[in-house]
Amino acid sequence: MRGIERLHPEVQAMAQELQGLCRENGLPLLITETWRTKEEQDALYAKGRTVPGKIVTNCAYPYSAHCWGVAFDFCRNVRGKEYETADGFFQKVGHLGKEIGLFWGGDFKSFKDMPHFEHPLYMINNSVKTLVIKWGTPEAFKKSWAAVK
Ligand SMILES: [Zn+2]
Repeated sequence: MRGIERLHPEVQAMAQELQGLCRENGLPLLITETWRTKEEQDALYAKGRTVPGKIVTNCAYPYSAHCWGVAFDFCRNVRGKEYETADGFFQKVGHLGKEIGLFWGGDFKSFKDMPHFEHPLYMINNSVKTLVIKWGTPEAFKKSWAAVK
C-alpha cells in the first residue's frame, strides 16, 4: 500500500517533510510503499521461495518495518527511470531524509536498500525486536497511534 496516511503519525509527518524538501530541491520523489499488510508481506516473502522469481525480502511477517507502518519506500517519479541510479538520485534523497532524522536503507551494512527509509526510534538497530516486545503485533501497535496524533 502506498498512501502515507497509513504510516505511523510521526513517520507520516517526516514523509511529508521529505516530499517538501525534494520539491524544493527539484528531486521528483514518488512514495511507492508504506504500510504492508500481512497478505502483502506474505506474498513478497513467497517470491523466490514458494513461488517463482528472485528473493526480494529476508523478512517474513511481521519482521519488516513496513508491517509496523514505520518505513516507506520511494522511487524517482519519472516513467521508465524509476530506479536509475547513475545521477545519484537515491543518495540525494537519502541525504535529505537523514537530515530530518530518518534512517536511510542505503546505509544498511549488508543488503543496501536505497529506495527505503525507516524511523530509527522505532526500528532500533534496524530491527522490529523492540516493537515486538512492547506491542506483540502490528495491530496492537497501530491502536496506540491515536494517542500520538
Ligand atoms: Zn522498504
